[in-house]
Amino acid sequence: MINNHNSNGSTIAVAGSQSNSPVFSSYSTTTSNVSTDHGNEISDINLYVSPPSSSLLCPLHNGLFNQPLIAKCGHTFCKYCLHKQQSNNTDRNKQSQFECPFDKTLLSMDADFFPNLALSTQINDLMIYCKHGIKRNHTGEWVQDEQGCQMKIRLGSRFEHDRICDYATIQCPYNKTCPPLKRHQLKQHTLICNHINCPHKSAGCMFEGTKQQLDEHLLGCVYESIKDYISRNEEQITILRTQLDEKHTENDFLKKSILQLTARFDQLALKLEAKTNKFEGTLKHIQASLEATQSQLSETTMDLVMLKKNANLEAIEIVDLKIPQLKCKGTFTGHNGPIWCMTVTNGFLISGSSDQMVKIWDLTTLKCKAMLAGHQGIVHCLAVIGNRLFSGSSDQTIRVWDLETFECLEVLTDHDNTVCALAIAAGYLFSGSYQIIKVYDLESLKCVETLKGNNHWVRALTVSGGYLYTGAHNMVKIWDLGNFECVHTMTGGSGSIYSLAVAGRKLLAGTYENSIVAWDLDTFDVISKLDGHIGAVYTLAVYGQRFFSGSYDSTIKVWNTDSLICVQTLNRHTSSVESLVVHSGCLFSGSADNSIKVWR
Ligand SMILES: [Zn+2]
Ligand SMILES: [Zn+2]
Ligand SMILES: [Zn+2]
Ligand SMILES: [Zn+2]
Ligand SMILES: [Zn+2]
Repeated sequence: MINNHNSNGSTIAVAGSQSNSPVFSSYSTTTSNVSTDHGNEISDINLYVSPPSSSLLCPLHNGLFNQPLIAKCGHTFCKYCLHKQQSNNTDRNKQSQFECPFDKTLLSMDADFFPNLALSTQINDLMIYCKHGIKRNHTGEWVQDEQGCQMKIRLGSRFEHDRICDYATIQCPYNKTCPPLKRHQLKQHTLICNHINCPHKSAGCMFEGTKQQLDEHLLGCVYESIKDYISRNEEQITILRTQLDEKHTENDFLKKSILQLTARFDQLALKLEAKTNKFEGTLKHIQASLEATQSQLSETTMDLVMLKKNANLEAIEIVDLKIPQLKCKGTFTGHNGPIWCMTVTNGFLISGSSDQMVKIWDLTTLKCKAMLAGHQGIVHCLAVIGNRLFSGSSDQTIRVWDLETFECLEVLTDHDNTVCALAIAAGYLFSGSYQIIKVYDLESLKCVETLKGNNHWVRALTVSGGYLYTGAHNMVKIWDLGNFECVHTMTGGSGSIYSLAVAGRKLLAGTYENSIVAWDLDTFDVISKLDGHIGAVYTLAVYGQRFFSGSYDSTIKVWNTDSLICVQTLNRHTSSVESLVVHSGCLFSGSADNSIKVWR
């Protein structure tokens, strides 16, 4: 029997821990731990009002259940006892199992035990005397102490009671060096304690003394006179602290977000790099197979040549199947604005720009040989014949230059709008502007005719086979150079026409709607609309079996004039390609990136 009954029928229990369910232990084994002094050990002793029923005792350690767990078989054990049993088991495989000592059921430690809440409640409802109201009698037994707390309390509420018990030991709230007190002695102690602080200590008052001294002090305390101000400040500080805490939380959240975003960014950067590498690989592969195809084609051509030699069939036409690819061979830089127009003569390349300058470039040295200044606006168009150069500008004039002296010979001021395009043929200079084309006699430099009938800006002029072709909005007119009569008007272009060129019996027009329209000059029917550019087609140039188109999309496309198929795209310019000109096997391209590139 482990219970030790005293004369009052009360039972002494000694708890091993401060858990909610005390552990019943035999009195004899804990004698040395028990003390009636108001030290720490007092909290380990529970004196029951009546002895606990044996149904509240754990069969494993014969004490009150401590955190009782009920097993699947219906028997209940302490959590503590089960864990002890488990750790004592040397067979590691069986550590997760427990065999019920009553019915030998094999129980899983993880799955077969549940808290026995009913039993916990019963144990917590046991009544004990307050630990601050028990003492040892002369025979050493624990009995009630009339000098102490007289409360009977629930075992489960003993810690709550301890926090308010008048007989519990507390420390002087004013000074840690005062001797320990019973809670009910605090009022008395306050009268004699000389360590009481001014209520405005937190505001900075250093006063310390007895209660009476404090009352006197408060009459003169500086802080007391401004206590409303202080309390308002404290409120404000509390609010600010709360806000600061919120900001801290927000800041932490943002920091976390930044970390997450940085990680995400790094991931994306890695992915991008991987994709770029893959793309470059694919590009190299395509280039390699293109070169292979080209060499196969040249072999095929060789085979055909051999075949022709062997068969001695002079009639077989050898078609050059190998299409030479253009490569960028050089760049002229020097203009301070987009290059709108170019022409070539006598080993010079001549260019006009938004910087109001006309520049003459030496084609052998690629150096600027002369700069013709005079225009007060963008130089939009150029035309050359012999030693005469003509330049048209947004300043509404045409300037006539001598290419030997580089002097301006004359300024033609007949236009009252921007001069958009120039062309020379049959002894005349043609100049396109808004709705009209003026015709100048090259000898007299006098305006001899004004061609009317165009509906909009005439931005494109070209001459071929005794005819002048003019492009405006959705309209191309063909004029007889002999009598300046309009012999045909073609519509069906797509929007405003920015460039015109004749290739064999085809008329080509580059439009604002990104396409190139091709007409048959015998039937005046539209043969095809060439797509491929993704910006307005500003300029066209024809060379043998190929023609070139420059676009707002920064590219130059190379087309076959027979098949009208795009055979190459040149994309070295970084801005709109405004002007193209072909000379002795070279293509020159002027761009809004202020440069002129040479292609061969
Ligand atoms: Zn059982
Ligand atoms: Zn137990
Ligand atoms: Zn008490
Ligand atoms: Zn004190
Ligand atoms: Zn004070």
